Amino acid sequence: MVSVCFGVILGVITVIGMSFGNTHAYWLDAWIAFLFIPPLGISIISYGIEFVKRNNEMQQQLIKAEKLKAVEQMGAAISHEIRNPLTAASGFVQLLQDDYLSRHKRKEYLSIVKEELISAERVIQDYLTFAKPSLEELEELNVKSELRQIINILQPLANQNSVEIITDFSVIGFIKGDGQKFRQCFVNVMKNAIEAMPNGGYLTIITEFSQNYVTISVKDTGIGMTEEQLERLGEPFYSTKGKNGTGLGMMVVYSIARAMEGAVWAESEVGVGTTFHFKFPTISHI
Ligand code: ADP
Ligand code: MG
Repeated sequence: MVSVCFGVILGVITVIGMSFGNTHAYWLDAWIAFLFIPPLGISIISYGIEFVKRNNEMQQQLIKAEKLKAVEQMGAAISHEIRNPLTAASGFVQLLQDDYLSRHKRKEYLSIVKEELISAERVIQDYLTFAKPSLEELEELNVKSELRQIINILQPLANQNSVEIITDFSVIGFIKGDGQKFRQCFVNVMKNAIEAMPNGGYLTIITEFSQNYVTISVKDTGIGMTEEQLERLGEPFYSTKGKNGTGLGMMVVYSIARAMEGAVWAESEVGVGTTFHFKFPTISHI
């Protein structure tokens, strides 16, 4: 409105100025040219600007609301997941207060309490990395040495399931990311792979390096996944492991990979095995 008013005032001044000077002008043309067209143009342009601005604001608000909703939902779900084992644990602690409990029973209850507490801790552990998906400490990661470190951590678990870990690493390969998160991501993937082979098998980890990308594949010879399982991979709390699973591991994997500008995809066949492929942008190492 303000800019249109200014336009009109400017037009009026121009026309008045013209009436003093050139008396041969076509007045209708002059009125249209100076009083009508410029304000119309101004109004269209300013309306357009306002429209885009308002749209942007609305979009920002929507994104914020969406984020808050996600946090809220996750919070509710998490507290529910944690409350269950804690309630169970506190119930058994109450039972333990009985002075006349047999040694055997006491032991049994204690082990249940421990298990419940571990399961609550697992939920928190898995969730923590999701709550902070933004990468805090960007550093140059040497893919090979990071993966070696992860394999060392998981070796005991692999031995327990009689899983043999085979590696084929490219000589170089540097990517940018947060080391802690990177390790968390691959620990989750490899843990799943090992857990998918309860009767032993081979876990093969291959990295390849090119000018633009470092690719990492994690292949197992485990139980595999059905089409539906593959589709639901990464959904919060989707787990086929019952009490032993949280269904948060893959969600964390996806969120970390996304934060590192990487791509993830999986191939799987029931009874044959699963392969996870990762692709991260290479950084040239000087
Ligand atoms: P969790 O391991 O706690 O169950 P995840 O989010 O890590 O949760 O995995 C979700 C589900 O995806 C698992 O329960 C399992 O069914 C399936 N899954 C993930 N990785 C594999 C794999 N390598 N082989 C077979 N199934 C897998
Ligand atoms: Mg898992």
